[in-house]
Amino acid sequence: MVAITEEQVRELAGYRGELAPVTSCYLDVDGARWVRHSDVVRELDRLLRAARGRQNGDRSVASDLRRIEEHVKGGLDRSRTRGLAMFSCSAHDLWRVIELPVPVRSQVVVNHAPCVGQLEQVIDQYERFGVLLVDRQHARMFVFELGELVESTEVFDQLPRGDDDDHSYTKDQARDHAAARARQHLRHAADMAFAVFQDQEFEHLILGASDDLAADVEVVLHPYLRERLVARCNVPLYAGDDEIRRAALEVESGVERAKEAEVVGRLREAVGAAGRGVAGVDATLAALVERRVETLVVSSGYTDMGWRCGNCRWIGRIGRTCPVCRREMDQVDDVIEEAIEDALGQSCKVEMCVGNADLDVLGRIGALVRY
Ligand SMILES: [Zn+2]
Repeated sequence: MVAITEEQVRELAGYRGELAPVTSCYLDVDGARWVRHSDVVRELDRLLRAARGRQNGDRSVASDLRRIEEHVKGGLDRSRTRGLAMFSCSAHDLWRVIELPVPVRSQVVVNHAPCVGQLEQVIDQYERFGVLLVDRQHARMFVFELGELVESTEVFDQLPRGDDDDHSYTKDQARDHAAARARQHLRHAADMAFAVFQDQEFEHLILGASDDLAADVEVVLHPYLRERLVARCNVPLYAGDDEIRRAALEVESGVERAKEAEVVGRLREAVGAAGRGVAGVDATLAALVERRVETLVVSSGYTDMGWRCGNCRWIGRIGRTCPVCRREMDQVDDVIEEAIEDALGQSCKVEMCVGNADLDVLGRIGALVRY
């Protein structure tokens, strides 16, 4: 499975269908929810029926919908794919399928540009994580991407036997020797972790080690890894991949929620201090139109109807005449999606927040602004 990157999402967000609109289809194909392929097909049929009802006879869109239908009905390997994102613009020969190991919300959107909000959310929510499990003679290292295991490796350093037959050894010598072997093992573990990092760079590291070992491991970690160390976990060294994955995801979502809370905290202060932050949909869209946004902060799942000016690109909730250029605008199903797309196009950071009550109080959307 090819992982989706921030650059790819931005590139998609910048794509424009000049001759015909772009059809974006997200499909939840999660095997836990849709056991049989026919269940997925039924869900797709429901989506396509609604989309065809709205397409207004555009031939390119009709052909997009057919292509999407053929792709899904042609069979899917769902062993590692839980969500599909498909982007089509037949008039321009655009066809992109992105398989995601995480679930998505099924939706079809026909618009002048690809609808990338959900992809952006996936990237924002699932960073690359390393997990290092260490005991006195064994170390295992894992890397997870989008919640999936992408790398695992291990080292084993046999401990010397506790009771040494060699009587020329004093007890002190034996103790020193054992301590040196232990240090050497931790150094092997740290070297392995760094080698994995150099090959499969990750944002965060989770360390699983007993309390008495953890401090010694931290000391020998490469500084790049030490600065990425975000949490400890209590997963046993010989745990199965799935148990390790679940523990990593749990830590990861905790880290992500904390990051979101920090951004929302900064937003609250900035809004209070007047000038450096805006809150609520109208003020936020206005700041985006003025290209003042540094970080867009959006509550996950928030949608709103609105308008887009095809001429000067103004977006807002009130139509139908553009307040800037006085042309007639197009109504859009989800102006929040448009806002995310504009923010990506303007190289803003986008922070999607899950269940953050403080952001909901601020109006479910806001922005840290440059001036
Ligand atoms: Zn306009």
